[in-house]
Amino acid sequence: MTARLWTCALVCGLACSSHGEAFGGGGASTNGLSNCITAAQEREVHEKLIEFAASQPGIASPIPLPQQYRFQPIAGTLWQDRHILNFYDVDFSTGIRDWDCSQFTYNNHNATDIVIRGFGEQDAGVPLFAVLDGVVALAHDGENDRNTTLEGQPANYVIIHHGNTHYTWYWHLRKGSVAVVVGQPVTAGTQIGQVGSSGHSEAPHVHFQSEFQGGSYETYSGPCYPGPRHWLNQLAIPRHTWISDFGMHNRLTVLTQNFYPHDPPRAGTFVRTGAPQPIGAWYVIHNEQPNTVWRARYLRPNGTVGFDPGARLRSNAFNRFAAWWFAFSFDPDTSGTWTMELTVNDQVLVTAPFLVLDGGSVPANRPPRTPTAAVFDPSMPDPRDPLFCRLTVPLPQDFDYDLVSYEYHWLINGLSYRKVTNAAFADAIPRGVASATDSVRCIVTPYDGRQFGTPIMAQLNDSAPVLRIRRLTGNRVELSWPTSVLDYVLQAKGNLSPATPWATAGQPVRSGSRMFATNTISTSTRFYRLKWP
Ligand SMILES: [Zn+2]
Repeated sequence: MTARLWTCALVCGLACSSHGEAFGGGGASTNGLSNCITAAQEREVHEKLIEFAASQPGIASPIPLPQQYRFQPIAGTLWQDRHILNFYDVDFSTGIRDWDCSQFTYNNHNATDIVIRGFGEQDAGVPLFAVLDGVVALAHDGENDRNTTLEGQPANYVIIHHGNTHYTWYWHLRKGSVAVVVGQPVTAGTQIGQVGSSGHSEAPHVHFQSEFQGGSYETYSGPCYPGPRHWLNQLAIPRHTWISDFGMHNRLTVLTQNFYPHDPPRAGTFVRTGAPQPIGAWYVIHNEQPNTVWRARYLRPNGTVGFDPGARLRSNAFNRFAAWWFAFSFDPDTSGTWTMELTVNDQVLVTAPFLVLDGGSVPANRPPRTPTAAVFDPSMPDPRDPLFCRLTVPLPQDFDYDLVSYEYHWLINGLSYRKVTNAAFADAIPRGVASATDSVRCIVTPYDGRQFGTPIMAQLNDSAPVLRIRRLTGNRVELSWPTSVLDYVLQAKGNLSPATPWATAGQPVRSGSRMFATNTISTSTRFYRLKWP
């Protein structure tokens, strides 16, 4: 990652905190001078790779091009919870330029830096996946993974050999996360480690480097780097202003050591005291335009303005990436669900609910929100593709602004295959572990560190359970079906007209491997179905 990401952090003295308001944070600079891997480290690794290559028969046979990549080698979704801060610097002089003719890089950067949303996510776990089949050429673990300054520290890493002279490098891994050993064959989508900030790094990210014929190469192609495209689906760099993370908090001041990339303070409930109290927020913004005007307005439950400190000018240069916090003290004069509205250059970017309780109340944790969708990506997997289970996530993910992670439980033909909790909008299983006709389920349960939310599921080739109906005495019937990880809901109605709604038909009880419910039939006809919740 680029040198001195946070050089322009505003140091806030009395002048800006004495009136019950304070601000801070900073943006990414593009003028770094030093690569994610120092020259000495890179030399040492290349020497080891020459030794590895010598031990591999037939390794030197030339191929015209390295194999194409079919997915991003990280848990999560690019340009949602992940972003690329630095591409390959395709300006080989002292200038900087990425493949798309912008400056999403720094001088001499020779890889792609994919950034996660801070140490909070690192601690919850963000898997890295082998991008292609291969053999582990080098692996190293045990180094400190919370670096925020560039001092040439040693990194945890994995390097995978994909045949001939094609290698992929995964750098800055989390301590203790390296999950493979040298010589181990891996298939595309195998988890090889987790994202960290080990080595010459200022924030948790993966430096993903591709090498061919002994040197690194750019995998993206575009107007400023024509040539072969090494991605099956190359995504455009978003150019609009967008927010990848947001939270509210109750501090007047957020210290640098408690702010991005460290996990920031979080609060979504405020108890009235009759006096002003700090009600603030923080956000991670992308493509922030120069000299941005921003404004936070606090709206009462009935929509009237409860507090409006007015528009503020940020005397900033263009930021492809920045993290800011602010706090304003005021007395929230009514209880109920308020809204904080964040406007950036006349565009409302965040509408954030927060709860105000009457004096003496005790805030209670609320479980995280359920993703609005879980789907498989690709929807029709090719034998070369790992299977991603990808979420559509509502923002905020949690009304207390807690950091939310997701338990991914994968079942293949009903058997548990992988169960992990990741701070990521997607997880994956390696290619080939499920064939085209296997039944695959991915059950995702959000977790806020204290409570689980309601699960959601994606399923492939799944047949519905058979509902069995047995007559008891009189008008009573017994309905039963096989148990499952998530409980089906039994529903009934008297006719099949679409205008007639389905209604819940009793609370089933579990007995052995089946669920049972009894119903009394009062009409001549009654239709039943099982509905996935
Ligand atoms: Zn890098």
